[in-house]
Amino acid sequence: MRKIAIAGAAGRMGRRTAALAIEAETYDIVAAVEQPGHDDIGRDVGELAGVGKFGVPVTAALGEAVDVVIDFSLPEGTLAALTFCRKSRTPLVTGTTGLTPSQQAEVADTASEVAIVQAANFSVGINVLLQAAAAVARTLGEPYDVEIAETHHRFKRDAPSGTAIALARSICEATGRDLDEALIFGREGHQPRRPGEIAVHALRVGDTVGEHQVLFGTLGETVCLSHSAHSRDTFVRGALRAAEWVVGRTPGLYDMRDVLGLR
Ligand code: NAD
Repeated sequence: MRKIAIAGAAGRMGRRTAALAIEAETYDIVAAVEQPGHDDIGRDVGELAGVGKFGVPVTAALGEAVDVVIDFSLPEGTLAALTFCRKSRTPLVTGTTGLTPSQQAEVADTASEVAIVQAANFSVGINVLLQAAAAVARTLGEPYDVEIAETHHRFKRDAPSGTAIALARSICEATGRDLDEALIFGREGHQPRRPGEIAVHALRVGDTVGEHQVLFGTLGETVCLSHSAHSRDTFVRGALRAAEWVVGRTPGLYDMRDVLGLR
């Protein structure tokens, strides 16, 4: 049994992580943490996840020894997980998005001491799409404009999605573009499209789990690659797979392509 800790245990992803880990019967949830002062501290992690009593209450800080921490929280939760993992030499799987550059630098710094799998999107399909988008962009080349659209539920805090940025990064790497130079967020006013520009458009409606479209358009045709996540469980399954993979790895910052052997 893998001993795991879940950071962000009361959140949408945290609850599904707990539910699927309990269902799998190959994980032992040893700790489930939430931000200090959260209403669900003290509640049973299994009951919170809707799968019945498990016997582990949600607490306000990581502390127990575990094989791996799985984090879907907010950037503050990720920073707390990094501190714990560095101190206790525990591998981390983190899917929290919206980190600032300095918070991201903290992830990279911690990865010099422990193994970390970080992915803006843990679904297998999106990680294949990252590669497909790069290959299509490289093949179609300069005459094709690239735009990325993403749609998520109304509760998502960060925009655009980390996945949309990962797609833009993957295309930039494949086509020799500078990401900071190419990327713009949305479009308004009278500015014509710059050659090589990649615009990312974020939509927030209802309970959409996660949709991404990459459009390649030139005079005469459009190619569209798209992905829809039907439920959060697809991300959770990927994260649990990453958790299995990361235990025993040498320190470093890995992503889902490493886990899936797509490199
Ligand atoms: P959510 O708001 O439902 O849950 C986040 C939880 O983290 C909340 O319960 C919050 O109280 C808790 N939290 C905040 N600060 C904390 C702290 N210091 N310590 C512990 N817990 C803390 O959000 P969600 O929909 O579950 O998503 C969580 C994160 O995961 C977001 O950044 C989201 O973009 C990301 N996400 C990633 C993937 C992926 O595949 N990588 C998929 C879905 C969501």
